[in-house]
Amino acid sequence: MQLQCSDVVPGLGCDYVAHGDDAAEVHAVMMAHGAEVHSALMEGKTSEEMSRAKDEMDDHILGLLSQD
Ligand SMILES: [Zn+2]
Repeated sequence: MQLQCSDVVPGLGCDYVAHGDDAAEVHAVMMAHGAEVHSALMEGKTSEEMSRAKDEMDDHILGLLSQD
């Protein structure tokens, strides 16, 4: 299965696609991509805000992956 970065965060204009054998793997690949390429999104946030944003992103990605 796969998930496109622009489906996770519309407006970023990123055409990266995460691939994996199952939802957990695609999720892990996408989170690694976000940390590597889109870390600027987290700039200026407190550790508490970052932790909350990561939780929301986890739920969002797993929600998208469970639609099929
Ligand atoms: Zn991206």
